[in-house]
Amino acid sequence: VANSLQDIISHAKEYGFVFPSSEIYDGLQAVYDYGQNGVELKNNLKAAWWKAMTQLHDNIVGIDAAIFMHPLTWKASGHVDGFNDPMIDNKDSKKRYRADQLLEGKAEELEKAGETEKAKVLLAEMGRLLGAEDLAGVRDLIISEGIKCPISGTSNWTDVRQFNLMFSTQVGSVAEESSLIYLRPETAQGIFVNFLNVQKTGRMKVPFGIAQIGKAFRNEIVARQFTFRMREFEQMEMQFFVRPGTEMEWYKAWKETRLKFHKAVGLPTERLKYHDHEKLAHYANAAVDIEYEFPFGFREIEGIHSRTDFDLRNHQELSKKKQQYFDADLDENGKPYGNYIPYVVETSVGADRLFLATFCEAFTKETVGDGENEKERVYLKLHPALAPIKAAVLPLVKKDGLAEKAEAIANSLKSSFRTVYDEGGAIGKRYTRQDLIGTPFCIAVDYQTMEDETVTIRHRDSMEQERVHISELKEKIGYAVSM
Ligand code: ATP
Repeated sequence: VANSLQDIISHAKEYGFVFPSSEIYDGLQAVYDYGQNGVELKNNLKAAWWKAMTQLHDNIVGIDAAIFMHPLTWKASGHVDGFNDPMIDNKDSKKRYRADQLLEGKAEELEKAGETEKAKVLLAEMGRLLGAEDLAGVRDLIISEGIKCPISGTSNWTDVRQFNLMFSTQVGSVAEESSLIYLRPETAQGIFVNFLNVQKTGRMKVPFGIAQIGKAFRNEIVARQFTFRMREFEQMEMQFFVRPGTEMEWYKAWKETRLKFHKAVGLPTERLKYHDHEKLAHYANAAVDIEYEFPFGFREIEGIHSRTDFDLRNHQELSKKKQQYFDADLDENGKPYGNYIPYVVETSVGADRLFLATFCEAFTKETVGDGENEKERVYLKLHPALAPIKAAVLPLVKKDGLAEKAEAIANSLKSSFRTVYDEGGAIGKRYTRQDLIGTPFCIAVDYQTMEDETVTIRHRDSMEQERVHISELKEKIGYAVSM
């Protein structure tokens, strides 16, 4: 059974995963804080991505660039002129919507009603109009499709207007001296402007990649669906620099590699799919999204884009610094490929969307026991490598030295993986507490432990217990919680 988003949001809050930002002041829209368990899960996801991208690829290295960048960066990237969402207001409800999302919603409805062809035509027409920046045409399409405001139920729409998504601020102390800068709307540009620094100092040879994890900021107008669309969020991006003409090969290869990653962190095949773009961004010659089926439908978690030499070429033009690479490899005529601006294939995934996808996937409600003993059990079926806490050591009772023994075991495991000690309440309650935050292993210390140095390991998903020697714990659990 699909879980509702409301269940997910409540669970995330109640068990210390995600809190609304500045909640005591009634929150700030589309901004969230990660709590004590959320930060662990998110860090584990980031570590899994970092390892998959850098450690497992000899030709990919990481950087950590600043959020603030020279203002010309955003001129070169096209964000100053082109990072706009087409917005439309409903005159009755005074609510503002993204025009493309209204049309996509209509296409989804058509699709559900079995009118696949009509949906396709609609999306193609939308792509054409947006590509030509024909905003009046977009409005006409919304009206001719009879799209109504979900709040007022009317189709009394204003014109469509472009709205820039970048946040700006001032650097410098005195008004006259200060200048306008932006909070980065994507992490990619920090990679592009460092392309030659990394290539030269790392003696990197094309094809090679640069990876980065960091915050990005977008003044999203339609901020809904929990951490799916936030104004401050985190991206995990990798730009892969290739010889022009080879980009489609790499695009295909990364498309597959990235899908495998999502499966490896626990998202099932049937809830993942590719979505090829009808409408290409200004910088791309091919683009695909990897979508996950959230409780609110299939939505993008990662974008893979063939960005051509768009970014490096524009940076070369505005900075007047050559952004070329000398390729000494020989072409089919035996001559070096020589100087060129590399093409780029980008993989870009939102850490927060991946977090939400893994969280939705892990959230499990099950009926256990039968007859009078039947009850509902809720737990997080997280991949052990992602779980905030890997093991909890629980003494059956506090007396007779069991507590001290359990604490000593917890202390001996701590440096290998995140382990907690918990002595409060009935053992069943303590198991439940760990289930709710996704701890894969509970280690119980009982009277037999005092005699033969064995403990039980209780497995989260099956609730089965096995008896093992204390000396085996580190290796057994350590193996299970690595990815
Ligand atoms: P969308 O169409 O949903 O706005 P996008 O196509 O603009 O997303 P990209 O610019 O391709 O997104 O950014 C790459 C990734 O960054 C997305 O796949 C997503 O995971 C993440 N991302 C983008 N915007 C947000 C946001 N507002 N909140 C959380 N994550 C985001």
